Amino acid sequence: MGFSEETKRELAHAFPAAKCCRLAELSAFYDFNGYFFGSYLDINHFMPLIARKILKLLKSVYPDAQTQVLVQRARARKNQVCTVRVLTPETAELVYQALKEQEYLDEQQKVLAQRCCQRAYVRGAFLSHGSITNPEKNYHLEIFTEKSEVAEKVYLTINALGLEAKMTARKGDLMVYLKDGDQIVTLLNLMGAHKALMHLENVRIVKDMRNQVNRLVNCETANVEKTIQAAVAQIEAVKKIQERMSLSDLPPKLAEIARLRIENPYSSLKELGEMTNPPISKSGVNYRIKQLIDLSKKLE
Ligand SMILES: [Zn+2]
Repeated sequence: MGFSEETKRELAHAFPAAKCCRLAELSAFYDFNGYFFGSYLDINHFMPLIARKILKLLKSVYPDAQTQVLVQRARARKNQVCTVRVLTPETAELVYQALKEQEYLDEQQKVLAQRCCQRAYVRGAFLSHGSITNPEKNYHLEIFTEKSEVAEKVYLTINALGLEAKMTARKGDLMVYLKDGDQIVTLLNLMGAHKALMHLENVRIVKDMRNQVNRLVNCETANVEKTIQAAVAQIEAVKKIQERMSLSDLPPKLAEIARLRIENPYSSLKELGEMTNPPISKSGVNYRIKQLIDLSKKLE
């Protein structure tokens, strides 16, 4: 099972306590896959688990509603389609009106007024037409629909919750999406997907650590390369001196470090300092090496 389906299964079990939120979540399912035919009202979903949630939400708000659940094989898809149907015309009309007449923040865009209901609405939208990429690949959460007014509503609702969703067209659909790890974690939390959130956070921690280790390794490699490059230049200087004169003609302290440098091309200055007799500090080695380089330049 993919991360997306796992998240949906978790959210299928998140049941809002307040009646206003149940209606809000139900209205999201209706916005995406609902149809009002006058004498009855349908809400479709291809996952039986989620169809069951739709029925439960409906029954909790309208305990007396006469309902029916139909399972049909879709022609185009391999999947089945579950239909939750409100049967009697009076109840169908009642549900239809209730879904339309909630309390809105924005009358035109139909963004729900209460934060608790906004959260429930986004959860319903995600369960209807949403998906989330496995965080081990990358961070991406999207909700898509061909209905532009629904996409707009989802976009504005997510942003009313304090997030910064983006919207783009894709193959005839509109896609509302988040790409930032922090924002996705916040949205999962708002929707009530706590297990999915924990999984994403764990993956993030491991990823961060891996990046840090890589950075350290790269840094170390860079330092080693720098040391080797410096050593190559120092050895060349000593060889230039040798072309013109014998190392034994140099002052003994310089001759000693020149020989050690040639014999130990991979050693750091500190290590060379430990080889001299008596041992000297890194800066002492550095001073002598600098004298050798100056001399080689003079000899040229
Ligand atoms: Zn509410």
